[in-house]
Amino acid sequence: MPEIVLKNITKRFDKFYAVDDLNLVIEDNAFVTLLGPSGCGKTTTLRMIAGLETPTSGQITIDGVTVFDSERGINIPANKRKVGFLFQNYALWPNMTVYQNIAFGLSNIHEEMAKVDCTAMQTAAMIQILSKPEKLKKALEECRNKDGKFDKDRANLRLIDEYDISMQTAEKLVGYHLQDTSDYVSITEAESGKLQTKLQEIQDKYKADGCELNGKFEVVKNGSPVKTVRKLSKEEIDLQVRRVSRIVKIGMFMDRYPSELSGGQQQRVAIARTLAPNPKVLFMDEPLSNLDAKLRIEMRSELQRLHIDTGSTFIYVTHDQLEAMTLATKICLINNGVLQQHDAPLEVYKRPANLFAADFVGNPSINFIEGKGSQAQDGSIPLTIFDGMKVVFTPNEPVNLREWCATADTEEAKTVPTKVEKSNRDTLFKYIIAKVDTLQGAEQEQTVTDDDFVIGIRPEFLDLADEGDVECEIYASMPTGMETMVKVRIGNYLLTGIMFGGILYKIGQRMKLHTSGDSILLFSRKTGRLIAQGSLKIMKA
Ligand code: ATP
Repeated sequence: MPEIVLKNITKRFDKFYAVDDLNLVIEDNAFVTLLGPSGCGKTTTLRMIAGLETPTSGQITIDGVTVFDSERGINIPANKRKVGFLFQNYALWPNMTVYQNIAFGLSNIHEEMAKVDCTAMQTAAMIQILSKPEKLKKALEECRNKDGKFDKDRANLRLIDEYDISMQTAEKLVGYHLQDTSDYVSITEAESGKLQTKLQEIQDKYKADGCELNGKFEVVKNGSPVKTVRKLSKEEIDLQVRRVSRIVKIGMFMDRYPSELSGGQQQRVAIARTLAPNPKVLFMDEPLSNLDAKLRIEMRSELQRLHIDTGSTFIYVTHDQLEAMTLATKICLINNGVLQQHDAPLEVYKRPANLFAADFVGNPSINFIEGKGSQAQDGSIPLTIFDGMKVVFTPNEPVNLREWCATADTEEAKTVPTKVEKSNRDTLFKYIIAKVDTLQGAEQEQTVTDDDFVIGIRPEFLDLADEGDVECEIYASMPTGMETMVKVRIGNYLLTGIMFGGILYKIGQRMKLHTSGDSILLFSRKTGRLIAQGSLKIMKA
């Protein structure tokens, strides 16, 4: 079942459309990044889903439950939407330890939840652990200091880590060990026997009341867990704090204060605090932007792992396209409040829906070349580019240009004008054609027809060699070791290429250029939309 559905969501501030008729389905367990330039409406979208901002119109459902509906007057507040937040300013409580910071939110929860028997839970966990006394003894014996003295605190943490148990349970197990290590096995056997009797007594008591305990130690009556309005027990809080701390690897800092942690560690505490109440959806608004470059990369991979470990749906706001590309299962690219594309990152890269998407995603940027021409009999599209150079674009899949343009025109005509005039009008994206001298031959505004196209070539599909289709001159060359970014000049035009390996090109050196592969993009200049993906052959002059 799709987790989050947005239907015709609009947010207006007077005539300014921060978000304009957004339709989006965010699948369960997705990691979605909301990407776009500053002011495009990312944060507003996130805040509307979270319940922190009220949409002007539309409908939002989370996990099948309508949380907002402008027509039916539904607006469920943020604290009832079972969502978690992580912002740039993670503001930990400075006077609380890491443990207290994470536990604080949990101790304030007071809501209807299943009744859990913590004593039975703890007893069963101990029986399980004591059934393998040698393993337990080995773990505990490793918690000795250099002088051979048993370190109780270290042992507690070791057991919590090894067995996913609470501090209370760990302390009891360590207690057995302290009694007598020489005859550990018989001590644990005896204790295990006592615990089994205890667990049986608890279960018998429930049976007498017509109930039973399920695998999660919830009290079950007539097949369903008994619900009650309650707070979480100390044991439950501890288990949860330990669990989330282990996920973000801060288990060893529990007694420290935030000021005793690095920025990255503090951020991890903030993540643990957000994860602790098990949010179904986790919202993150540029959470890594305060971290230094190295830590940011490290945290990115941690977030990816976290997404798998928690099984929650992540919605992440960023204007960093690299962050969006590397983290997300799907990118939701927005411009001027309008959704441009919602696809897997590599799909957006390979098949950008329009010129804006092609330009926004990818670093170094895609090369745009304007071309004019019309389709030939065989389906290929001969074009004239630059100052008279002939090229032929061959689409991978057959496309009938006339039909394509007719459909695009009808779709454009179908756009229903909104009741309130939009002050931030949607204008066609202004792509940049890189030139050596931008002033030379400054183009006059010309009427764009169906015969006008823009070719998009990603830098990795430009090849330089001694042999090739067209002559160019090395304008700039920047080797970084693993790759070399090179700018080449053809007449007044500049193209950017990426070559694998550290190649030393000489500025001014003359080389031959050709394009490779079948990932060259053809866009309509009139609508800015992608027409086809294909290959490009430069014809010899
Ligand atoms: P950034 O990356 O800079 O945070 P963003 O994409 O998150 O940008 P939003 O915060 O969603 O952008 O804002 C979208 C647009 O709505 C912006 O142009 C902003 O100026 C406008 N906006 C937001 N809140 C208000 C408000 N309360 N009143 C008027 N305009 C607003």
